[in-house]
Amino acid sequence: MKVYLDNAATTPIAPEIIEMMSEMMKTNFANPSSVHSFGRESKIIVESARKKIAELLNTSPGSIFFTSGGTEADNMAIKCAIQNHKITHAITLRISHHAVLYPLQDLHKEGVIKLSYVDFDKDGVVSLSHLKELLADNPRTFVSIMHANNEIGTIQDLKKIGEICKEFNAIFHSDTVQTIGHYTFNMQELNVDFMAASAHKFHGPKGVGFSYISDNIKIKPLIRGGGQERNMRAGTENIYGIAALAMAMEMAYENLEAEVKYIKGLKEYMIKRLKIEIADVQFYAKCTDIDNSLYTVLSCHFPETDISEMLLFNLDILGVACSGGSACASGGNKGSHVLAEIVPDSKRPGIRFSFSRYNTKEDIDFAVEKLKELF
Ligand code: PLP
Repeated sequence: MKVYLDNAATTPIAPEIIEMMSEMMKTNFANPSSVHSFGRESKIIVESARKKIAELLNTSPGSIFFTSGGTEADNMAIKCAIQNHKITHAITLRISHHAVLYPLQDLHKEGVIKLSYVDFDKDGVVSLSHLKELLADNPRTFVSIMHANNEIGTIQDLKKIGEICKEFNAIFHSDTVQTIGHYTFNMQELNVDFMAASAHKFHGPKGVGFSYISDNIKIKPLIRGGGQERNMRAGTENIYGIAALAMAMEMAYENLEAEVKYIKGLKEYMIKRLKIEIADVQFYAKCTDIDNSLYTVLSCHFPETDISEMLLFNLDILGVACSGGSACASGGNKGSHVLAEIVPDSKRPGIRFSFSRYNTKEDIDFAVEKLKELF
């Protein structure tokens, strides 16, 4: 038996989506930019997907731009908003994803921006008072604060942060890669200028996602070439990926309530089983607060043993796929920058289990049994 508990890294593609894509690959091959009837059919696929996604987020289709995934959407927002709007100061979190941290740090190294890091509490929750201070003391700022952290599951209050950004006339980008398809969004109620989404985090294929760009902000394209995406993102559209992205979102939101309940149940069950079976297991940040953390992620750390460094490898050999991370830097392994911020200097091995609609209680029983064998 093998179980897959690494759904925050990526999810399996829903079988219905694989079927739809393979049918579409047989029949729709034309370039959506071609003006003949074949091309027009492809164009309809792309535009219907955009309309569907916009409906699900309660926004206009004009604010959705297809990309190759979350990394591109993050890079596009950061680089274009900062350069096009002549921004000289940006704020982010030290626990942001590298798709956000690295482009911001590059712009800082190039002397384009001053980069500030906003404080957070022991669980990774942003200090709103520090955010206000940083905004008050600086010129017009670009703020990038992720919705949910992919490693520790901490969720930020996008509504409040958006209101603060509006008060200080800041541009607000949020990396929502771990939450689109898992939480509802009403763009009419959020003051967010940019968001990023990636289909493979909610049972769509890899290499496709979108950038949400509010009507209030204009940028020039990051990728230049043809006139696709209304001149905002050049390159022949990934029509199968785009159709699959829209279908994955539709499936996610159609069954959201039941799915959230089911996955929260799995997470709760795993917490209970781990607490019973593994002495001194501990959980990162707010992971055990089921309603106030990313419900798909359970990030824990275990007592240090002589196999600490090899825990993930051993679990893999025993048939359990999950993600690891160590807070400390050891040897060639730099460790996780997120865990190092949350639990500094810890030698306790950290493991992230992450769940999807396709996991079962049996998967969790199996993973806990295998962990027991190692401790
Ligand atoms: N941002 C976050 C929070 C993520 O978890 C990921 C994926 O690991 C990304 C960005 C990058 O997304 P993609 O894999 O679609 O480039």
